[in-house]
Amino acid sequence: TTFKNLNLKPALVQGLQELKYTTPTPIQADAIPLLLQGHDVVGQAETGSGKTAAYGLPLLNKVDPEQQQVQALVIVPTRELAVQVRQELKLFAKLITPNLKISAFYGGHAFSQERASLAHPPQVLVGTPGRLTDHLNRRTLELTNTALIVLDEADKLLEMGFQEELDQILGALPRKKQTVLFSATMPDEVKELIANSLKNPTFVKA
Ligand code: AMP
Repeated sequence: TTFKNLNLKPALVQGLQELKYTTPTPIQADAIPLLLQGHDVVGQAETGSGKTAAYGLPLLNKVDPEQQQVQALVIVPTRELAVQVRQELKLFAKLITPNLKISAFYGGHAFSQERASLAHPPQVLVGTPGRLTDHLNRRTLELTNTALIVLDEADKLLEMGFQEELDQILGALPRKKQTVLFSATMPDEVKELIANSLKNPTFVKA
């Protein structure tokens, strides 16, 4: 398989060659078409499998740069991952348009700065559960138009005790949405989260 066969926007496909992403990894080849078709997807994949691009490329393919609303939300367990995912998504986004705002919200730095940045909401938000619920509780963040949600490293999110925060964030999202979950392992808690939060998901494995 090549990126050309996956139905991504031509600008994205062309840019990927320049970024030396010549061939999709197995999880990308499986997950990208399903996500572009609108399916809920569970991906079992470890770091290094190319999982970020597996959800990130279809996500950016779907986002509308003309609309200043949080259209896609990526929930990650740690600030390090938030920064890293934002970085990779920005790299891809620049291939399509200079007008896409991608923010990372996480604990350990000024809340006020994040709040101020929401005067111009990002189309894509990457965040940790604690800081995202902070924004919801203080009514600084609006997620009623967020139709695409990614739970990245779901096993780690639950291991770290974020179940309640996840419930609150998922509850703030519209009913009609696409949900993607990635996890390196599939313990019972993750299976339960999948059963409770995804609609008829397709499973793919790296
Ligand atoms: P991840 O599993 O998302 O953490 O990605 C692991 C590393 O592989 C990252 O540094 C990516 O930039 C890189 N990568 C992901 N997909 C591809 C690809 N199709 N071709 C080349 N490099 C890739």
